[in-house]
Amino acid sequence: MTEAPHDSDERTERSLNFIEQIVDEDIAAGKNGGRVHTRFPPEPNGYLHIGHAKSICLNFGLADEYGGQTNLRFDDTNPVTEETEYVDSIKNDVRWLGFDWENELYASDYFEQIYQFAQNLIQKGLAYVDDSTAEEISAQKGTPTEPGRSNQYRDRSVAENLDLFQRMRAGDYPDGAKVLRAKVDMASPNMQLRDPIIYRIKHAHHHRTGDAWCIYPMYDFAHGQSDAIEHITHSLCTLEFEVHRPLYEWFIQQLELFPSRQIEFARLNLTYTVMSKRKLKQLVEEKHVSGWDDPRMPTIAGIRRRGYTPASIREFCDRIGIAKRDNLIDVGLLEFCIREELNRTAPRLMAVLDEKPLKLVITNYDLGREEIMHIENNPEDQSAGVRDVPFSREVYIERDDFMENPPKKFFRLFPGGMVRLKGAYIIKCEEVVKDNAGEIIELRCSYIPESRSGSDTSGINVKGTIHWVSVPHAVEAEVRVYDRLFSVENPAADERDFKELINPNSLETVRAFVEPALVEATRSGLTRSGSLTNVQFMRKGYFILDADSTDTLPVFTRTATLKDGWAKEQKKG
Ligand code: ATP
Ligand code: MG
Repeated sequence: MTEAPHDSDERTERSLNFIEQIVDEDIAAGKNGGRVHTRFPPEPNGYLHIGHAKSICLNFGLADEYGGQTNLRFDDTNPVTEETEYVDSIKNDVRWLGFDWENELYASDYFEQIYQFAQNLIQKGLAYVDDSTAEEISAQKGTPTEPGRSNQYRDRSVAENLDLFQRMRAGDYPDGAKVLRAKVDMASPNMQLRDPIIYRIKHAHHHRTGDAWCIYPMYDFAHGQSDAIEHITHSLCTLEFEVHRPLYEWFIQQLELFPSRQIEFARLNLTYTVMSKRKLKQLVEEKHVSGWDDPRMPTIAGIRRRGYTPASIREFCDRIGIAKRDNLIDVGLLEFCIREELNRTAPRLMAVLDEKPLKLVITNYDLGREEIMHIENNPEDQSAGVRDVPFSREVYIERDDFMENPPKKFFRLFPGGMVRLKGAYIIKCEEVVKDNAGEIIELRCSYIPESRSGSDTSGINVKGTIHWVSVPHAVEAEVRVYDRLFSVENPAADERDFKELINPNSLETVRAFVEPALVEATRSGLTRSGSLTNVQFMRKGYFILDADSTDTLPVFTRTATLKDGWAKEQKKG
């Protein structure tokens, strides 16, 4: 038995998931000399989503745990849907998540080898060329309760099959004229074994092999074969492939290939979103979103732009664990993970998210006077230091931090009431100024000079602290407040078309006034590392500077609210 170089302390602290148990058994049985080699096999027909992140974390994590290796393999056997743009985005996303692959490989590099595997099957009398139409083949296939029927092509000789298959490759036939089928068992209770199609004719340009091929192997005759060629020990895939496993193993046996072991796990489904590339592509192409990286998309690119960090996504994948049965995960858990991280790391800054904020004039503060307040960047992290925030006679506050006729326990500002302006002074509202229409246009206030934060000798205690931005120093910004993309919990399970379920109010764009340090700090990378930077707008939520920002107008995207709906639900049990 080979000792795997894993961290046994970490492993004893938690129970092993069922895949780790299988790997342990295989190692104990001496299989593959104790070697663990996994692969992540995306089809480059779209951008990766959070479901793929689960597969990435699982494959790379497992190999890491056992001192093994992981290949990145593009499953590029369908020439029509695949593009180089997707290959590049996939590599970028896997790297961004923090993983590095052993080998960058392409199933299309194995086309010649896979073609020979097919010839080999024909020679063994285990594959035949079928001239039936797709409809005929499907009608002959039977149903789960009725066996399928063989047709006359099943009895073609080896020589005839070899010749026809060779001609299929040479381009002698149009699309759909013939297919190559494995000769397994038309009466098998497992429909997958009823002579599955393994090659089809497709005169199409491939993003890597160009026009070299006009026949392409089907998933079942490419995936397992690629696993075997790469000597993958554990081939992890999602549950829908469980019924394909007997076929996966049949090919290994008949072709005497390296015995990769297929293990299925539950795919990740998240509430309030869809997770199939086909649907996500539709959202992009029909412009329901701004692109694959729209912050509402469940793609890695979208989640990244939303302000999520790689660590928060890995943490999420860790928490959901590996299951054998499909389930629907509350998107609140994903939000919980980023909130927890940003609470520790994101600097707190002040922004008033209001197109028409309330102006507060401090009448006993000298006209033209300015002070620099020193405000802590993050009370959770002393090392984050303090920053300079300019204060002056006029400041903006949120309109809803003031009420003319407040209910009991309203601790913010009201006529005659007092609050502390965060990091500055205690002020008192002396007078409400309205325009002719009766709308409040400004509050005239007084401040208590002895109450300056850090050297407060006023002896006055106030219950409320509100955030503010000095009017002459305020920087105008655009803030994009995103909500869930779908208005129902499980759009994929709904009878209605998923596009009818799109939340019409998933994006609200607001004007805001932000403190000057915010723009400076985020631009200069003074805040957390990375090209984009995460901040907390005090009392408002977590935000990130968006790539749409211009020199004159910074744009911020809301990553998450401050409130923690998910944790509250958990406590309630
Ligand atoms: P989609 O249905 O979204 O197009 P897919 O399974 O066709 O996804 P692939 O590119 O073929 O996408 O998948 C690459 C790997 O990621 C596969 O091993 C697949 O099983 C896994 N994967 C895809 N979606 C999920 C998911 N929601 N949860 C976990 N793993 C997933
Ligand atoms: Mg697929």
